[in-house]
Amino acid sequence: MSIPYLEDAALPHSYYEASVEPRFAYPSLTDAVSCDVCVVGGGLAGLHSALNLAERGYQVVLLEARRIGWGASGRNGGHVIPEYACGMSTLEAALGMDDARRCWTLAREGGNNLRARISRYHIACDYQAGHLEAAVSPRHVQPLRQWQAHAARHYDYHTRYISREEMPQFVGTKRYHGGLLDMDGGHLHPLKFTLGMARALVEAGGAIYEGSAVRSWQAHDSTDVRIDTAQGQVKARHLVLASNVGIQSMAGALPKRLAARILPVGTWIIATAPLSEELAHSVLPTGAAVADNRTVLDYFRLSADRRMIFGGGCSYLGESTPAGYAAALHRGMLKVFPQLESVPVDYTWGGVIDISMSRAPDFGRLPDNVFYLQGFSGSGLVATAVAGRVVAEAIAGARENLDLFARLAHRPFPGGTLLRGPLTAAGMAWHRLRDLL
Ligand SMILES: Cc1cc2nc3c(=O)[nH]c(=O)nc-3n(C[C@H](O)[C@H](O)[C@H](O)COP(=O)(O)OP(=O)(O)OC[C@H]3O[C@@H](n4cnc5c(N)ncnc54)[C@H](O)[C@@H]3O)c2cc1C
Repeated sequence: MSIPYLEDAALPHSYYEASVEPRFAYPSLTDAVSCDVCVVGGGLAGLHSALNLAERGYQVVLLEARRIGWGASGRNGGHVIPEYACGMSTLEAALGMDDARRCWTLAREGGNNLRARISRYHIACDYQAGHLEAAVSPRHVQPLRQWQAHAARHYDYHTRYISREEMPQFVGTKRYHGGLLDMDGGHLHPLKFTLGMARALVEAGGAIYEGSAVRSWQAHDSTDVRIDTAQGQVKARHLVLASNVGIQSMAGALPKRLAARILPVGTWIIATAPLSEELAHSVLPTGAAVADNRTVLDYFRLSADRRMIFGGGCSYLGESTPAGYAAALHRGMLKVFPQLESVPVDYTWGGVIDISMSRAPDFGRLPDNVFYLQGFSGSGLVATAVAGRVVAEAIAGARENLDLFARLAHRPFPGGTLLRGPLTAAGMAWHRLRDLL
């Protein structure tokens, strides 16, 4: 079995696809159109960018190769974590404390922005507050404690430490030795949110074309970019590339350079049948989502209809799905919650994330009017809101926030397209081993 990526337009057999209203089908681009900004990619990075710009009065055209939410945005775990995948220490080392603090504020504001969008555009996406980061061993408690003290001291950010004794009030398992509760975090139904963002974009005046894969683009001068799809063309003043690992499908030296800086990594989720009210309460009594703090982590939450949505594991070896991944995830879930032994698994699906070498976001611009947003590294629900904000500000002439991220140096993965996956897999195996010790 493989994750349909570049060739297959089929929607995944996910719980999310099965639990949304029939989708609105947007047309394909079949002629030549002009606009202020063309956005490539109908995931959350593209939608946040396009919506911010449309709200500011720009004429926006969004091109999506397949369907809105087809990529990671419509498949993910739904955990809303107002931080970056790389952690603040990477940003502090690269940018210094003052500028790391600016990034931190942008992430917290990104979380607020996401909630504001839900309420402003009436996006029914089952948002629930509360996110708990849990330690699987006494050794994993220490980084949580250190981060709690660091966040309070340097970011004036105060999380609540949950002791081992208190953990059963949040998660019904003996597995965890402590945790940090962030009530600014939470969880939602990611496909409902993504489709709601597309509706909001159209309400704000933007145009969406599905089934319109961008093959190539050319910047003629600083106010003229031509973007080609199989059957149409867009002439725009600015271009925003928000295609995640799909950047590799576009022709040209610049897309190639960007593609070399991110690695496509497959990762998976299972959804059980709905749990009884009593069982649901026994596993996650407060309804907060939980993720552990290992390098390759388990993350889980309850859906609005009380299914356990349990994710984990990843493959650095291309976009194919390893045999037995669903059984491995099921075993992982039972390790945390043996009480779910007799609950059937109704759905299994996967998606592809775009990791950067440092796991830090990779945002910037190429020529003056071509912008790129990538490297969300598996934690993009909030970071895409940050990306959409900073790119819209930059197009409107305020480049400080985008330039802040553009200062982060991003190297290509060593080994080229053939060896970068296996080399990263070897590195990650070491991290996994360290987590076990
Ligand atoms: C299984 C899984 C679980 C995850 N869990 C979480 C989580 O719990 N919390 C969290 O914060 N993050 C999570 N993530 C990460 C998060 O989903 C992503 O970081 C985020 O959705 C990235 O958004 P995006 O818009 O950059 O990419 P995508 O959502 O992948 O969107 C890119 C879009 O571009 C389109 N495209 C590609 N090439 C072209 C082209 N040539 N022309 C036109 N369109 C093109 C694609 O079809 C796609 O729809 C998870 C990801 C996965 C896969």
